[in-house]
Amino acid sequence: MERFDIIVIGAGPAGSAAAYTAARHGVSVLLLEEHPKIGIPVVCAEGISRKSIAGYLDIEQGWISQHLNGAIIRGPHDQEFRIDYPGCGWILDRATFDPALARMAENAGVQVKTRSKVVGIHDRAVTVAHEGRTAEYGYNFVIGADGMKSRVGTWFDVDTRLAVDEITVCAEYLLEDINVDPSYVELLFGERYAPGAYAWIFPKSSSSANVGLGVSPVRTRRRAREILDEWIKREFPSATVKQKIFGGVSAKVLERFSGNRFYLVGDAARLTDPLSGAGIANGIKSGVIAGRSAVARMKGKKDAFHAELKKAVLKEIAYNQGIRNVYLKLMDSEYEHVFRIAKRILSGHAVSGVSIRRIAREVMIFSPLIFKSALKLLFR
Ligand SMILES: Cc1cc2nc3c(=O)[nH]c(=O)nc-3n(C[C@H](O)[C@H](O)[C@H](O)COP(=O)(O)OP(=O)(O)OC[C@H]3O[C@@H](n4cnc5c(N)ncnc54)[C@H](O)[C@@H]3O)c2cc1C
Repeated sequence: MERFDIIVIGAGPAGSAAAYTAARHGVSVLLLEEHPKIGIPVVCAEGISRKSIAGYLDIEQGWISQHLNGAIIRGPHDQEFRIDYPGCGWILDRATFDPALARMAENAGVQVKTRSKVVGIHDRAVTVAHEGRTAEYGYNFVIGADGMKSRVGTWFDVDTRLAVDEITVCAEYLLEDINVDPSYVELLFGERYAPGAYAWIFPKSSSSANVGLGVSPVRTRRRAREILDEWIKREFPSATVKQKIFGGVSAKVLERFSGNRFYLVGDAARLTDPLSGAGIANGIKSGVIAGRSAVARMKGKKDAFHAELKKAVLKEIAYNQGIRNVYLKLMDSEYEHVFRIAKRILSGHAVSGVSIRRIAREVMIFSPLIFKSALKLLFR
């Protein structure tokens, strides 16, 4: 049986970042991906902010569909305001981005195997189904980067179940033949668009965009797809639908995501931001930290995985989790209130960073209703 120091399962951004980092530290790494083509199918709106990834990855021109200069915010009654933030981020082309990261790992010495679905882990070996056959690979350490539907955690006896209020159900279509501002994302709030979450228009060009929405099952019994179909009919009646994707985004980090011989990273550890649902940057950050920590651990050095992850990812997630808990309870009248405050703070300004904290603080001070629910949450 072929043996590797580290086996990484899943070649999304988190897995490739982990494999690349570990290989750069001089150990043998196998990266396994179930799909024939890395990055396909794309299940993502592909947005990433410059701030979220700074210090971890330089975004290359060839991976970018659009450069972003800000956002248009739309409230429950279709009132809008614009936030100008030149160079704030990008809409990626994940069908190019994901394979490029895997190639970086390969160039660093990682053995990458596609069409290789991991079907079990036992006795320090990973079982892989590959074109009708199974193979076993021995490992010293496993990094589970197998996304939202991760099974690696369950193979290491981690409870990966999510409660109904810990998930946002999403539907998104890639639309063509539409008119959009190519350098502004549009975010829409209110019960009509996305009960308990938000809707988005992420431009791929001036005539195409990822258009989608999330809903919280505790706020509506309606399906995300149904609400999206209605909205697209209203807003983009002559659009061509190129691709439809459906998926869940978690809003709660796993209680446990490491053990003696494994780490879980990215969506497999449920590291998406509970407010925005963004998970590319946190996937990469957790992958880099896991790759580095796994090697340190194998060399008998101190394991800084949790400490580093807390600083880079978990602190922000915990803060945004608190905001989401309040946000989840808001009705249109309160969205309206938040919208007015956000508009006052942000509208027309060239902001160098959109501070969720400042908005949250002002909303709590100026809205007795939201303040009351925040207090209840704090002292329950
Ligand atoms: C509708 C929607 C829109 C989103 N929009 C955004 C956005 O705009 N910006 C943002 O930052 N995030 C967004 N996200 C979240 C983002 O897509 C994820 O957080 C991100 O892809 C996580 O990266 P990852 O590497 O952890 O997992 P993934 O990208 O899911 O990669 C996991 C990989 O593991 C492979 N795999 C799974 N099981 C196995 C197995 N048994 N054996 C081998 N391989 C396996 C999969 O094929 C996949 O390639 C969105 C999510 C959804 C659902």
